[in-house]
Amino acid sequence: MLVVMKAQATEEEIQAVCDHIVQLGFRPHPLPGAQRTAIGITGNQGEVDRGNLESLSGVAEVIRVSKAYKLASRDVKEEDTVVSFPGTTATVGGRDLAIMAGPCSVESREQALAIAGAVAAAGAQFFRGGAYKPRTSPYAFQGLGLEALRILAEVREKFGLRIVTEALDTETLELVADWADVVQIGARNMQNFSLLKKAGKLRKPVLIKRGLSATLEEFLMAAEYVMSEGNYQVILCERGVRTFADHARNTLDLSLVPALHHVSHLPILVDPSHGTGRRDSVLPMARAAVAAGAEGIIVEVHDHPEKALSDGPQSIYPQQFARMMDEIEAIAPIVGRKLPRGVRTVATVGAK
Ligand code: PEP
Ligand code: MN
Repeated sequence: MLVVMKAQATEEEIQAVCDHIVQLGFRPHPLPGAQRTAIGITGNQGEVDRGNLESLSGVAEVIRVSKAYKLASRDVKEEDTVVSFPGTTATVGGRDLAIMAGPCSVESREQALAIAGAVAAAGAQFFRGGAYKPRTSPYAFQGLGLEALRILAEVREKFGLRIVTEALDTETLELVADWADVVQIGARNMQNFSLLKKAGKLRKPVLIKRGLSATLEEFLMAAEYVMSEGNYQVILCERGVRTFADHARNTLDLSLVPALHHVSHLPILVDPSHGTGRRDSVLPMARAAVAAGAEGIIVEVHDHPEKALSDGPQSIYPQQFARMMDEIEAIAPIVGRKLPRGVRTVATVGAK
């Protein structure tokens, strides 16, 4: 159910509706929009009695949301979600493309700082790098853990880049969230419901990668798990799905981008690295992703990919990353977007 407030509804009226929903034993999710605030209701098994709600002051109408996902749906929030990073110019969603770049794994301080310097110089706003890695083989490099998180903090300090890194399990989620600006939930964990619920308790952006065989609805239900716990800062990421194709590691499903935009207000990034598994395919698919309307790109970059401890064959060189930036900068205006170069710190309201 969704309570749509009148455009002129006051804060007090919105609060009174939320209190009423709590009294009914449900959870209110006030979602402010440009025109009006809508309040999503979750926690109900069946229909909520709309009679009382409709008579509350400031309420315009009460609507049934028929889709399985509610808070992620455009029915609940019409405007595109823009995830912002207080104190910086970085955003995900809206007109500006968001670019996240870096190695698959943080391998050493020297490696991370060298790659971060290169991607910052080319204009990325976010640095990606795994500290805890989901590897198919238990014998493969598992990530440097806390040591990597410390290195990532140094990257943020030195280059101003916002940090994106994966939380592999509920045990390490809070530790990762303490160090990261964006907590990544990997493709293999897209339906790890206890991890999603716990990520919903964070007040930090969460980037969810599409599962290897997830439908659009399953993907949005993963987002719904996070949002239903009160964390509305969700970023989606298409990273390729399993198909019969054997020319690439995965099949990058760009058709998901417009389909998602149709039904959801959440931003969607595209990962052409895992999406293809091939360095030679990364730039073409990054261009295509921007042309398809993605809100940004997350891409693996390595200065010595032949020595990389994970995903070397799909990692592009820093010079290729710089070229990718020029190319997508040229494409962006065709789809009404702009490529901001770099990230600046800005004074926040109320900051001392
Ligand atoms: C990664 O980003 O390095 C990664 C492991 O991604 P995915 O979960 O999409 O495989
Ligand atoms: Mn990787």
